[in-house]
Amino acid sequence: MAKDFTTREQDYSKWYNELVVRADLAESSDVRGCMVIKPHGYAIWENMQSQLDKMFKQTGHSNAYFPLFIPKSYLSKEADHVEGFAKEAAVVTHYRLKNDEDGKGVVVDPEAKLEEELIVRPTSETIIWNSYRKWIQSYRDLPIKLNQWANVVRWEMRTRLFLRTAEFLWQEGHTAHATKDEAIEEAEQMLEVYAKFAEKYMAIPVVKGIKTESERFAGALETYCIEALMQDGKALQAGTSHFLGQNFAKAFDVKYASKEGKEEYVWATSWGVSTRLMGALIMTHSDDNGLVIPPKLAPIHVAIVPIYKNDEQFEAISKKAKEIKEKLEDKGFIVRFDDRDTHKPGWKFAEYEFKGVPTRIAIGPKDMEKGTVELARRDTLEKQFVPMDEVADIIPGLLDEIQENLFDRAKKFRDENTTEVDNWEDFKKAIKKGGFVSAHWDGTAETENKIKESTKATIRCIPLNNKKEDGKCVFSGNPSKERVLFAKAY
Ligand code: AMP
Repeated sequence: MAKDFTTREQDYSKWYNELVVRADLAESSDVRGCMVIKPHGYAIWENMQSQLDKMFKQTGHSNAYFPLFIPKSYLSKEADHVEGFAKEAAVVTHYRLKNDEDGKGVVVDPEAKLEEELIVRPTSETIIWNSYRKWIQSYRDLPIKLNQWANVVRWEMRTRLFLRTAEFLWQEGHTAHATKDEAIEEAEQMLEVYAKFAEKYMAIPVVKGIKTESERFAGALETYCIEALMQDGKALQAGTSHFLGQNFAKAFDVKYASKEGKEEYVWATSWGVSTRLMGALIMTHSDDNGLVIPPKLAPIHVAIVPIYKNDEQFEAISKKAKEIKEKLEDKGFIVRFDDRDTHKPGWKFAEYEFKGVPTRIAIGPKDMEKGTVELARRDTLEKQFVPMDEVADIIPGLLDEIQENLFDRAKKFRDENTTEVDNWEDFKKAIKKGGFVSAHWDGTAETENKIKESTKATIRCIPLNNKKEDGKCVFSGNPSKERVLFAKAY
């Protein structure tokens, strides 16, 4: 374990905050609630972006870009939407500064007041649907399947690096369809894309489900979500996909002429994942030795560290190291040969371990004699000696094994920390212990709220693969047809 580094057992929250900073992922900025994403963190986000972007394109979507600012009047066109986002809106009121009276600083020029205030986008449904009105006339113009990579601002009061920030990076998909069924199919398809991305690339097992009415996106008829369980037993909403019905089409008057020549309102979806996924990645896999990154998202797959006493040894080791690097690069991996003479090998080992590089090779003079290298894997910290000439062929399989092991480990943890309970006493105990709690609920917002007030647990989702099962609500005793998943959440 890295010295003077808080362990998960000691203080999970402190461990997370220290890890994010010390692994060079991000740091707080002077702007309240906004973070600086550092190169190592940004490189992981870029890998997430490029894989997701590919999956969006494979499912028929294209990227576009809309303005950062939204006229205030747009936001107020959809009643639920404005109510949901008004309380965290950043508003631009002026467009100019001027020198203050003693000429030393600047003040807002009161004469440069905007006629209509602008909202920094918290999400882009309104401005996009305003464009869709102009783009859609007939059924031939449908569907429209767009995605935007952007930053958004929600004035969150309690912020944490990656998990909840006032400004965050995300993608937002916005689609327009001729029929209700097609829109629902799209919202469900994107949930599947998110679930596949989370499980296959992030190695995070997720539960697919729908949100209860009180947890739904402002303006949606149905919110689908993927929920993950972090190592401290708290849940994290990792992605959402919304079926928006015709709410935005009605608010922005977006109609199309059907094949039969009838005027109809257009059906909508929107879906998004954000830099919160970085938080999910860290809190699912990392340990007391630092970051653990699944190979499929790692900015560096292999670090090679030479161990030598003189120039002659260094030359010989470098030659071998470069050969291995090249072979691995030919297979598509990113390899760092760390030949810096400013740091000792031990320091480098600790550094790559802390930053979560999945595999590390060390080559010393003894290895040169024996034709071996030391190969270490980050997930289990195991080391083995392997033939120098074979290491480049061994590593691809090892990376797959690491990827699989991380998923299996996280799934085992999730399964072991999901408890079914049937009465209020057991419910309270299970929530206190942490993890997902599967229990019957009577379907009312009133009960949902009372449970939240009493235990801080919320309904994370009604799982999609739920089997129908008659039971009694753990809180009210009223009849229930299925179990829902509760947890304390981020
Ligand atoms: P929403 O538009 O509210 O459905 O959120 C879309 C995605 O952004 C979800 O995956 C959320 O988990 C994520 N998200 C919402 N608020 C924040 C925030 N303040 N910081 C980071 N991610 C967020």
